[in-house]
Amino acid sequence: MIEKAERLKRLPPYLFKEIDKKKEEALKKGIDIIDLGVGDPDLPTPPHIVEALKKAAEDPQNHRYPSYSGMNLFRDKVAEWYKKRFGVSLNPLKEVLTLIGSKEGIAHLPLAFINIGDLVMVPSPAYPVYKIGSIFAGAEIYTLPLLKENGFLPSFTSIPEAILKKAKLLFINYPNNPTSAVADRSFFEEAVQLGKRYNILICHDLAYSEMCFDDFLPPSILEIPGAKDVAIEFHSLSKTYNMTGWRIGFAVGNEEAIGGLGAIKSNVDSGVFGAVQIAGIAALEGDQGCVSQMRATYQKRRDLMVSGLRELGLLLTPPKATFYLWVEVPKGYTSQGFATLLLERAGIVVTPGNGFGEEGEGYFRIALTQREERLEEALERLRDIRNW
Ligand SMILES: *Cc1c(COP(=O)(O)O)cnc(C)c1O
Repeated sequence: MIEKAERLKRLPPYLFKEIDKKKEEALKKGIDIIDLGVGDPDLPTPPHIVEALKKAAEDPQNHRYPSYSGMNLFRDKVAEWYKKRFGVSLNPLKEVLTLIGSKEGIAHLPLAFINIGDLVMVPSPAYPVYKIGSIFAGAEIYTLPLLKENGFLPSFTSIPEAILKKAKLLFINYPNNPTSAVADRSFFEEAVQLGKRYNILICHDLAYSEMCFDDFLPPSILEIPGAKDVAIEFHSLSKTYNMTGWRIGFAVGNEEAIGGLGAIKSNVDSGVFGAVQIAGIAALEGDQGCVSQMRATYQKRRDLMVSGLRELGLLLTPPKATFYLWVEVPKGYTSQGFATLLLERAGIVVTPGNGFGEEGEGYFRIALTQREERLEEALERLRDIRNW
């Protein structure tokens, strides 16, 4: 058999095998599993978006290759949406690029900027794609630990000067998966300054910009004056409009970065199905009542779970955004150990924090992607085994 490439050997170990196996076994036995593991909305895509797809699917114009960089009208709507939501002006032709989901763009970006051995700064715990996309491009990784005492923000001042001088890319993501932490404008100002001072491209993942609660409205890094000189921002319709299966997202920001990513993509894929982009337009320019509803739904689930978990003595900060709870593992357990206990004794699936990087050890992640009755049931089961 042909030996696999080194880049596959450099992939971080997959840590969920044990839990996946146990979950499979339990399901086979007919045990009623409550899955709070996956970050995939349980609610359907709003009907007006589905209708727009149906109509557009019948138009033969959409049956041919789409434009590589995305339909002009879709990119216009993205620019309009950015103006309205963040007050940021974008040139739709040069500063907006349609993506096959933001994961695709994040994974491909390093190919446009990284030579073998170049340095990329990646937070831990984090969405795994920042590190893996960088590894695939041949990068060396410098890990930025996200610690509770820093509000799960990277501490830029503790990065050695030599690292800053060498680094080409920095990935950040607020509102954050998995910690659910949020960042304010001053954090993004710091990031932009760092990018300018050391000539680093700041790659901000804003997948959860609309999934926010109470009075908090997450900012875009592009709101910071001068950010466009050093920043690219990744965006997704997946979480905002329950469209994870549709595969549509976009990147905005620095023209050179957008151009570089576009050059990689035009040689790898041929764009997003036109009908899906038309559905995306319907999402962005349609009634945003579905977004308010989505927020209200997760806010209720959050309140229910935060108070239930706290009553059980578990420690967590109530999130201002995202549909995740980042919960400290009780004393005496590892992340894996506690997740296994919850699965074996309560039929509840959660994600062990170390699966997002070593620095996630000591935590587990709950995704609020089940109806309230199921969350109540999960709390009930936890009460039954509370002597962990
Ligand atoms: C869900 C998620 C995405 C979105 O991915 P798509 O490919 O657009 O579906 C991006 N980043 C983070 C951190 C996520 O959790």
